[in-house]
Amino acid sequence: MSIGWADCAAPPAYPTLKGVKRGSVYEVERVVVGPLETNCYLICKGSECLVVDPGAEPERIAERLAGRGVAAIVATHLHFDHVGAVEALAERFRAPFIAHRADWELREVFARVAESWGFEAPRLPEPSPAGAELPLGLRALHVPGHTPGSIAVLGDGFVLTGDLLFRGSVGRTDLPGGDWETLVRSVCSLYELPPSYAVLPGHGPPTTLGREARANYFVPQSTCKKY
Ligand SMILES: [Zn+2]
Ligand SMILES: [Zn+2]
Repeated sequence: MSIGWADCAAPPAYPTLKGVKRGSVYEVERVVVGPLETNCYLICKGSECLVVDPGAEPERIAERLAGRGVAAIVATHLHFDHVGAVEALAERFRAPFIAHRADWELREVFARVAESWGFEAPRLPEPSPAGAELPLGLRALHVPGHTPGSIAVLGDGFVLTGDLLFRGSVGRTDLPGGDWETLVRSVCSLYELPPSYAVLPGHGPPTTLGREARANYFVPQSTCKKY
């Protein structure tokens, strides 16, 4: 979940998902789902896709797959708004579910947070632990801070940042397991990647690492020296 957008001005030109596709071996599609408008991404290579953060609306996500297979379902972290459709899709496509252990250990705590906000806590299959290698040649980076088990999904020319990094903003750190200094270090580690990389966040519009390094309201690259 995002904290308020720091940057309320009209959005500048930012890379489109089509921009990701150009020169990439992957096709990336976004499906915005659920009451918190979570970005679910389909990262597809040929007829196989990785489904990242299916937060709700499994039927719509399945439709968008349009007959393609699901190599795996990945959660950038286990907040309910990112995993509400995991169980339905994992059963329907017989796909493995991948998430980081550190978040799985907090699943009961996250469930209570969801309930305290009036949402039903999703039931989840036990995930395979996220290692560095993901199916379809994608990679997982451990980027704790928003939650201890947050991961980013890295492809050629793009990175899915979950609730770590948004356009102009970063994820909140006041939920269980969140930690501000850890989050800053994780964001700074992403700035080591090429600035042209598209950032595809868990909520809101895309951006680039270069733009955020320069102009992120909370964690521009100039902050990184202090951490
Ligand atoms: Zn979220
Ligand atoms: Zn979250």
